[in-house]
Amino acid sequence: MQLMEAIERYESEVRSYVRSFPTVFEKAKGSYLYDINGTAYLDFFAGASVLNYGHNHPELKKALIDYLAGDNITHSLDMASRARAEFLITFHEKILEPRGLNHRVQFPGPTGSNAVESALKIARKSKGRENIIAFTNAFHGMTLGSLSVTGNAFKRAGAGLPLTHSDRMPFDGYLGEGFDTIDYLDRVLDDSGSGVDQPAAVITETIQAEGGVNIASTEWLRHLQQLCRKHDMLLIVDDIQAGCGRTGTFFSFEEAGLDPDLITISKSLSGYGLPLAVTLVKPQYDIWEPGEHNGTFRGHNPAFVTAKRAIELFWSDQAFSHEVTAKGRHVREALEKLARKYPEASAKVRGRGMLQAIEFAHKELAGTVAKKAFKHGLIIETAGPADAVLKLMPPLTIEQADVDKGLQIIDRCIIEAMHDLGIGAPRAAGQ
Ligand SMILES: *Cc1c(COP(=O)(O)O)cnc(C)c1O
Repeated sequence: MQLMEAIERYESEVRSYVRSFPTVFEKAKGSYLYDINGTAYLDFFAGASVLNYGHNHPELKKALIDYLAGDNITHSLDMASRARAEFLITFHEKILEPRGLNHRVQFPGPTGSNAVESALKIARKSKGRENIIAFTNAFHGMTLGSLSVTGNAFKRAGAGLPLTHSDRMPFDGYLGEGFDTIDYLDRVLDDSGSGVDQPAAVITETIQAEGGVNIASTEWLRHLQQLCRKHDMLLIVDDIQAGCGRTGTFFSFEEAGLDPDLITISKSLSGYGLPLAVTLVKPQYDIWEPGEHNGTFRGHNPAFVTAKRAIELFWSDQAFSHEVTAKGRHVREALEKLARKYPEASAKVRGRGMLQAIEFAHKELAGTVAKKAFKHGLIIETAGPADAVLKLMPPLTIEQADVDKGLQIIDRCIIEAMHDLGIGAPRAAGQ
């Protein structure tokens, strides 16, 4: 049986990315994936920001192979292991301490959703309240708790039961420019007639990556933090996709100078695509009873090894951070040039660091470009409720020449897609 046929026949209908990128991948290196025919695909998706350091980074691979070859322990529940302790030391010394953070590290389970679930639980337990404020177009995961604070109607419907104990508030920019949606939240919380129960916490992303690359401004984030303090709510920042260097700093909220009570990170934390998630908890809220939030895979030793190595390699000084910022600026300028080149597409560009996006007035243009890009050897995703946003998320380690190559493919695909959709079609002679 052909390999793709096996997937189509045996795997559940729920499979999704295989439908956007319909080939059978076999190998990957740096910024490229290779399918079973040896066709190369440039990666502008990076596993939804799991592969910030590229595919199979040689230094991370070496650390992993050495660990496995030495018969070092792979699974140990949450018993003490050298790999676990060394990860905690490195994470504390190179990430938390230099940023003035003294959070405890909880290993909630292997996925981002696990980290969100544990953050919601501990917020509710700390404050003794049920309600959580989440924002329009938020994405926090697929388990019931994390789905209850996620916006997407299609994904929510999959729950099969009412998703309760959370209220939705407008994210930054949702009600147009010049409207500070935090003022609205403040009003609602001050008003005993608003119908909004006093929340235990607010959960937010700094950039809604799945929700359409919607950027929260520095002022909005600071205002939100102030409001959390004012109304005695915990601030949870879900940094699962925007964290681990994607925006140019390790945490995406560093520029805003936030001090969140709870922080979730996962995706690129292991640096190698191995599942690893953490919930960072301020000591005063670390009120778990031992084993109260349990799980079989709470800290996978091989993932600790690559995570530690990745932090040493990329976060021991500022060099990588500056590099990401410079690359992000380059991508941004190139996208703005494209937007000017095709005024008939009425494109808007937005993003931070190496999470950049272009949104077209025609709702089908981004999807058409992404589909064509795959045919031209570029893997790129769309985002937002209508998939009208083309999201650029290459590995942070990508070479300049590959950035430009990907941008050229996008340029070519915009021309083709506009032609197919009849956007800005040249008028017939004589008109
Ligand atoms: C991916 C993601 C999650 C969920 O992580 P999983 O590992 O898929 O469960 C939660 N929040 C954000 C912002 C994400 O991007």
